[in-house]
Amino acid sequence: MAVPSHTPVKPRDGVSALAGRWPLLGQRRPLVAYLCGVVALEVLAFAVLVATGDLRWSDPPTFAALLLCGAVCIEATRRLGIPAGVSRDLLSAWWLPVALLLPPVYALLAPIPLQIMLQRRVRETVVYRRVLSAAAIGLAGCATSVLFHAIAGGPAALTAGEGGPILVAVGCAALFTVINTALIAVAAHTADPEGRWREVLWDRESLTLDVVELCLGVIVAITCGINPALLVLALPPVVLLQRSLLHAQLQAAARTDSKTGLLNAAAWQREADTEIGRARRSGESLALLIIDIDHFKRVNDGYGHLVGDQVLVGVAATLRSQLRDYDVVGRFGGEEFVVLLPRADVTEARRVAERLRSRISRMAVPTDGAMISVTVSAGVSIMNVHGNDLIELLAAADLALYRAKELGRDRVCLPAVVVPPASPPSPGNASD
Ligand code: GH3
Ligand code: MG
Ligand code: MG
Repeated sequence: MAVPSHTPVKPRDGVSALAGRWPLLGQRRPLVAYLCGVVALEVLAFAVLVATGDLRWSDPPTFAALLLCGAVCIEATRRLGIPAGVSRDLLSAWWLPVALLLPPVYALLAPIPLQIMLQRRVRETVVYRRVLSAAAIGLAGCATSVLFHAIAGGPAALTAGEGGPILVAVGCAALFTVINTALIAVAAHTADPEGRWREVLWDRESLTLDVVELCLGVIVAITCGINPALLVLALPPVVLLQRSLLHAQLQAAARTDSKTGLLNAAAWQREADTEIGRARRSGESLALLIIDIDHFKRVNDGYGHLVGDQVLVGVAATLRSQLRDYDVVGRFGGEEFVVLLPRADVTEARRVAERLRSRISRMAVPTDGAMISVTVSAGVSIMNVHGNDLIELLAAADLALYRAKELGRDRVCLPAVVVPPASPPSPGNASD
């Protein structure tokens, strides 16, 4: 299940003190209005459903059993530790059966205790994110439930094992994912209008997870519909899947620089080494760039470290948006970034480095009173021209970066020295 992102957003003027205690007040007005709207819709749906709903005596025990399974899942993965940035779980395996088997009002209620549990037992985050999550899941579940009951007539159709109602359940489960993702994506986009929709909507990995969640949810719903006691059999595999999902996310988080989302230095070096080995075997060219923000200390000194961090995030986003999928980009440390350009020769590497330099110099980060711009200097080295392995290429690019700084910054340089190539001799020649 997708949860709201952790994009840091700057407090508005005049509300900084209050925002300390009530972080929502520090957010952009459209986000506050959107969140209030989503919660109001949830409350309205609850009031309408309570007034019109027919509650059966058998519903509360099934509801409690499904919530208990969700709580066991949370407890079973809690001990692995869930850092910021790990954002997916498999709790839909329990939200979906609630929506498909029980009257819609239960779907609105189900996320509330589990979000409280996640906040208390797993990771404390700002309360409005949990509220948004609970409201988005609740509304998505409610819509799913209303639609499923209207088309299929209720849970009995599902447990009879006939294809039609099961297909309807699958369609409704897909609707659940679409509504929930859309509600969260609009919030993420309202919080950060410059963020790309593609990043807050789906990538291939989260689409796979959505399909897994959908399948699990429908299977658990059928199992529980036959007999709630069968949840005892469904729970262990779901817990195991949830734990392996968490492992995969922890592994990804360990490769990533948490501030910028780029590869961290160790992961970048591993990937760069692999690319260099590939280029050596295939005889293709390859280039390495080290990019360093000019006078970054002045940004920190003048505007504070938080603004400095926003500049780092902005530079990282510009780098990522300007590079190809197979270029390897990482944060090397501090205000220094590294890029490996497979298949790039000297002309291409200079062209890319120039483009990155010029794009970053046109980027503006808004602060309270002004827009901040920075420039960067870049050192470029080319495989088989300035070095034959990663260490040599890094050393050569570092020398070139030093030259760029000496010559006045805001420029791209190549090293003056050319090393003799390893076997076989390479084409290409150094310029500059
Ligand atoms: P130059 O043009 O020569 O590169 O000057 P510079 O000021 O960019 O370089 P210097 O090495 O003197 O300062 C780098 C600064 O980057 C100092 C350090 O506080 C800051 N810095 C390093 N990591 C971070 C970070 O994660 N966030 C922020 N805000 N600042 C950082
Ligand atoms: Mg610098
Ligand atoms: Mg530096």
